Amino acid sequence: MPHPYQDPALPVAERVADLVGRMTLPEKVGQMLQLDARDGVRSLIEDVHVGSILHTSPEHVLEAHDLTEQTRLRIPLLVGEDCIHGHSFWEGATIYPTQLGMAASWDRSLVERVARATAVEVAATGIHWTFSPVLCITRDLRWGRVNETFGEDPFLIGELASAMVAGYQGDGLDDPTAILATAKHFAGYSETQGGRDASESDISHRKLRSWFLPPFERVAREGCRTFMLGYQSTDGVPITINEWLLSDVLRGEWGYTGTLITDWDNVGRMVWEQHIQPDHAHAAAAAVNAGNDMVMTTPQFFQGAQDAVAQGLLDESALDAAVARVLTLKFELGLFEDPRRPDPAREATDIAPPAHTALNVEVARRSLVLLTNDGTLPFAGGLDADASGRARSEGTPRTVAVVGPNADDPDTTLGDWAGRSGQVDWLPDGHPRHMISTVLDGLRAHVPADWSVTHARGAEILTLEPDPAGAFFPDGQPRPPVVASAAVDDAQIAEAVAAAQGADYVVAVVGDRIELVGEGRSTATLDLLGGQVALLDALEATGTPMVVVVLASKPLVLPPSAHRAAAIVWAANPGMRGGQAVAEVLLGLVEPSGRLPISFAAHVGQQPTYYNQIPGQHGDRYADLTQRQPFAFGEGLSYTTVSYADLRVLTPAVGPDDTVRAQVTVTNTGARPTRETVQVYLHDVVTSATWAAKELKAYRQVDLAPGESVVVDLELPVADCTIVDRHGTRVVEPGAFDLLVGPSSRDEALLAGRFVVA
Ligand code: BGC
Repeated sequence: MPHPYQDPALPVAERVADLVGRMTLPEKVGQMLQLDARDGVRSLIEDVHVGSILHTSPEHVLEAHDLTEQTRLRIPLLVGEDCIHGHSFWEGATIYPTQLGMAASWDRSLVERVARATAVEVAATGIHWTFSPVLCITRDLRWGRVNETFGEDPFLIGELASAMVAGYQGDGLDDPTAILATAKHFAGYSETQGGRDASESDISHRKLRSWFLPPFERVAREGCRTFMLGYQSTDGVPITINEWLLSDVLRGEWGYTGTLITDWDNVGRMVWEQHIQPDHAHAAAAAVNAGNDMVMTTPQFFQGAQDAVAQGLLDESALDAAVARVLTLKFELGLFEDPRRPDPAREATDIAPPAHTALNVEVARRSLVLLTNDGTLPFAGGLDADASGRARSEGTPRTVAVVGPNADDPDTTLGDWAGRSGQVDWLPDGHPRHMISTVLDGLRAHVPADWSVTHARGAEILTLEPDPAGAFFPDGQPRPPVVASAAVDDAQIAEAVAAAQGADYVVAVVGDRIELVGEGRSTATLDLLGGQVALLDALEATGTPMVVVVLASKPLVLPPSAHRAAAIVWAANPGMRGGQAVAEVLLGLVEPSGRLPISFAAHVGQQPTYYNQIPGQHGDRYADLTQRQPFAFGEGLSYTTVSYADLRVLTPAVGPDDTVRAQVTVTNTGARPTRETVQVYLHDVVTSATWAAKELKAYRQVDLAPGESVVVDLELPVADCTIVDRHGTRVVEPGAFDLLVGPSSRDEALLAGRFVVA
């Protein structure tokens, strides 16, 4: 005779209440735990009664499901993983560009399709939950996790995050290909000190509400099912126990009913690292009382929470409420009826099918940003492709020298959180090499059949040394090695110079490596490390036209020789089809269309360089440098030219409930087609508190044939013309506003039109 909680006909609330009533205290505490499964799952399930696991190898996923079926109450497991640009750690899954790369597409529907395709791959393998997307705003480029963000603008982040959540969660949780999305890291984690990962983030409530919270609020209201907290502390309070953010704002103001998970050992850290809780019982009580539902990788929480109940620090009813929320999620996913085990048939058909590879090619192309071009690109004026995707010969055979340490580096092509990037141990060889197209592979495959491609590495980027502080952190986690800039190798440079001298074009692929990217791997410098600057200088001196491909996780500072090069392309970490996409753009088989979701710096000392800063009072320069970014948010070139004219605000006087309507004429004044991203910024002329001089509020992408002129309709609800006032309230302040429309955030690129809000 099944228990009521096992009866799918009963309402979820009834099933939850019945089940919670049957659980022992250890079972309840275990249900709140998500533990690391890398070292095995048996004890986690049998002894700790875990509710969830992460970092679970394919074999362990199967074993975990089997073991769970033998437990007393047979409560299904939630299996979570960081599938953040594809199914990161499933050998041979589709790995897309990093989130930052995808953001350069500025394309909501493309990003949603990537998330949907990822969910299909992930769900087939018995994983229910991805810890994605990241909604952190990049503030300081030295931060190691810039690549995981959608860049520096809250509006663009909100658009793309909303798309990604929709893609993961699909048509609803009863869709077997839906996976849970996670909005992370709530909130303010990226407001680092000096770019250092997980530093205190001293940030006022008003500042949070102004820039950091809006993307989170959007996805909370749109039904993102889980939120992950960050590592940061604000005003001395770790986010894990920040009742204002968790209870008042998230669950209160925004009405969020989803699941809250801590970040890695954030409960334990309050004891061993931050020293703000005397022991795990106190830490557990504080975390539960603050409203957390799931505790990630603090094994001591199991005993700590039970001790807290015994010592009267924690009321069991608070535990019950958290457990009920976790169970509600499991019931809503239908896991009690179908635990969504790995499905070998779907794995065979749904992992990296041709349609996902085609989508990956599409998003990789759209992720590339052409930063400069003296007309050298596209090579030989642009070419058609033959049936094999190879550019057609146009008569004069050419030689392309492909040089640089990232020209043929599969791991950097994929970026962090993929294969052997370090987070899991079951993919020592990374993703299958044949699935990954490096820039060298791409050019070899796509140049005309009568062209030659030569290759020389040219330089190393770094060497690794053990951290003198020891191989492990106090909690047993491995410490990343220390990076040293590699020495300039004259012989390597000479080889590359010889290749350049024997070529019609040199493509120099420089950037960073995954050892310079990620958690605990922020960088003090943004310069190209190792022999790369010397390499570019030497290549420039050959006189062979040089295209610099910056294959880098984040914007780096480029040396003068790069700025003088024939062209610069930023390729972020472009994913498995990245090299193909770069080759197609260089050869003119595909038009470059990416726009920067983040600004580049001229010097590391300019940090921060985001475009939407509040202007200071003493101008915008240092004694020895201006604040001007070499490449600013929104910029990106095409192989044609586009002009903007006749901005007309059709609604010069509006009320608070109206929509501002405007038109601008956009004309393709060159000889090639393009996709133009028409950007709409807002300048609030007088504000009651200091505010950014302009903020992105809307954008539209339009395809323009050569010579084509289009009148683009623009709309902006007055309700979006807000600032956060000095009391921390988001308001529309009546008065004059300038609508700024153009191809980038640069003042000189924008047309202005005024409207007045009554
Ligand atoms: C990261 C999270 C990630 C988690 C699980 C943490 O250290 O900050 O972004 O989801 O680990 O891998």
